[in-house]
Amino acid sequence: MNIRVGLGFDSHEFEEAKDLFLGGVKVEGYPGFRAHSDGDVILHALTDAILGALGEGDIGTLFPESDPRWKGASSDLFVKRAVEIMKERGYQLINADIVYVAEFPKIRELREKIRNRLEEITGFERTKFTIKGKRPEGLEVRGGALCIASVLIGSED
Ligand SMILES: [Zn+2]
Repeated sequence: MNIRVGLGFDSHEFEEAKDLFLGGVKVEGYPGFRAHSDGDVILHALTDAILGALGEGDIGTLFPESDPRWKGASSDLFVKRAVEIMKERGYQLINADIVYVAEFPKIRELREKIRNRLEEITGFERTKFTIKGKRPEGLEVRGGALCIASVLIGSED
């Protein structure tokens, strides 16, 4: 079995006027992210982790901000495309481990919803995804959020 690891990082500033999307889940009662798309840091980091594992560049190369098709886009599209490329190359997801770092919202209350959405978006079982939430102790990230995702993918040959 050929196994590859990928690491993805993303961050965005909060913006009051936008809806918050995290891991494909719309979260009520919090500001969203200032970004060209919906700014879903979890899905962006996951997309970059998959692309990194494949050696296929990054989200900005595949979905440039200059392209009007991605304005206000749901980030489901980015993950779906990355998964499509992964499958074209003969790889399956072994697991993904995701860390969300921000003052809010609490991931504990969203974890199962996000895992269900990740199963819907990627077609891989929810048990393959783990998501942790951390407060940014000692860091000045009050006005935004960041996410780090790692994936392991494998192919039979
Ligand atoms: Zn992003």
